[in-house]
Amino acid sequence: MNTLPNKITRKRLNQLNIFRELYFGSALTKKELSKITNLSTPTVSKALSGLSSRKLIKEKGRKDIPTGRKPKKYGLNNNSIYGLGVDLEIPDLRVAIYNLSRRMVASKGTYLDMDKLRKNPTDHLTEKLSRILKDFVRDEGLDMNSMLGAGIAASGVVKDGGFRPFSRFERSRDIELKKPLEEKLGFRTSLGNDLDLQLLSQLDRLGHVKDSNHVALYFGARLSGKRQPNVRIGGSIAIGGEVFRGTGGSTCEFGHMSVTSESASGLPETRCGNSNCLESYINAEIKRDDGFSVPPTITRAIEQKIKDLVFAFSPSLIIVDLDAFPEISDEIIHELDNFTAKLENTIGLGGVQIRKPLNKDRSATRGAVINHFDQSLLDPDSFSTLMENYNQ
Ligand SMILES: [Zn+2]
Repeated sequence: MNTLPNKITRKRLNQLNIFRELYFGSALTKKELSKITNLSTPTVSKALSGLSSRKLIKEKGRKDIPTGRKPKKYGLNNNSIYGLGVDLEIPDLRVAIYNLSRRMVASKGTYLDMDKLRKNPTDHLTEKLSRILKDFVRDEGLDMNSMLGAGIAASGVVKDGGFRPFSRFERSRDIELKKPLEEKLGFRTSLGNDLDLQLLSQLDRLGHVKDSNHVALYFGARLSGKRQPNVRIGGSIAIGGEVFRGTGGSTCEFGHMSVTSESASGLPETRCGNSNCLESYINAEIKRDDGFSVPPTITRAIEQKIKDLVFAFSPSLIIVDLDAFPEISDEIIHELDNFTAKLENTIGLGGVQIRKPLNKDRSATRGAVINHFDQSLLDPDSFSTLMENYNQ
């Protein structure tokens, strides 16, 4: 990130730096932008007029100062660019439109046809998604040209424009999605793992991470399926605000980590290959239970796994999203707070903030759009291309 990309000119880079500040922060004056970016006021002025001419930013009132002329403030033009977010929580399908400030404009939910999905997943997803997205944009009265494209959240391993929805099919298989969907829709799409994208959305709400040593962990336990509820456990890690994806396209398969050092007894055969896996253990414990309260074995197992993660990553932030077991969230967070406070005094690990997700909506549509915006707006090459072509 320290070297200048080949294709971007100094002019574009200045515009991108200014745009980035306004994208992550609130409206600012020329003087404030000049101070933050180390660019001269005339350079800031030039960059602002370039961004305004593409309608990406606009004037946003004036800054209140005690004496003299109140300077103009500049901020994002929210009516210029929109992104579509898709959350594929098979068989549930949620879509939402977000503006440039990552605020939801409209949303709707529907279902996928499991039979069609089993027969030809790429065809079914491409047809269903392109129809829904086009109708949705039209129903909301938005111009197709203002759509920057779609971000898609999928569960399981996401890699090379496809994904592998591990738990939903008897045999895991890669489903190609990005290319066929782009061909059908005629605009850019990006794909990410749902929990990675939820973490991105939470970090965006909490404020832009500037420290490259900042480590954030997301631990999620979700219920999926209505007839046969199944707990799905997973997670994500972001370093310096960027999701770490590992070699295989997905890290943080917390759900498949081991419960004990020996084989946990009474577990059904697991599909992941780890006979001792946490997710299988928890699902077996639920089936054994009366269903009135969360068995303490589950609480302890989750708590222990997160403690191990603290040792492994020394995170600054842990988001504990126990959507499947909301009644034990506070107990677990309280225990982890005590635990990390102790660690700070013993081995020096600590200073970690442990919290529930900021809002109740666990859908990853917002994160999917943020990921898409990051790739299409904040990447130097994509930004240059956008500035050359958009709103000309
Ligand atoms: Zn497993």
